Amino acid sequence: MLRCLSCNGILQKSETVCYSCGEKIDGAAKAKSKGSFYSVAAMLFYISLGATGLSIFTKFGPPLAVCVPATIVLMFVKSSADQVKKNQT
Ligand SMILES: [Zn+2]
Repeated sequence: MLRCLSCNGILQKSETVCYSCGEKIDGAAKAKSKGSFYSVAAMLFYISLGATGLSIFTKFGPPLAVCVPATIVLMFVKSSADQVKKNQT
């Protein structure tokens, strides 16, 4: 359950502004979700990179034509998430 930082009122997860005092809710909850998004993006990137390595050097793993575009896309997602994370701190 979320609570407003200024009036300690109970908030719904979907609310972005406290209805009792008007305080904007952009603190801990959103920062946390961005952090987890970054770790998911990073994790997917490393998995995809590993799969690409597997398909290049071994007979195992998914086809290279699938791995390479996926890795490139995930690299962009990861780097943009990285940028957001840097800007926050
Ligand atoms: Zn409030």
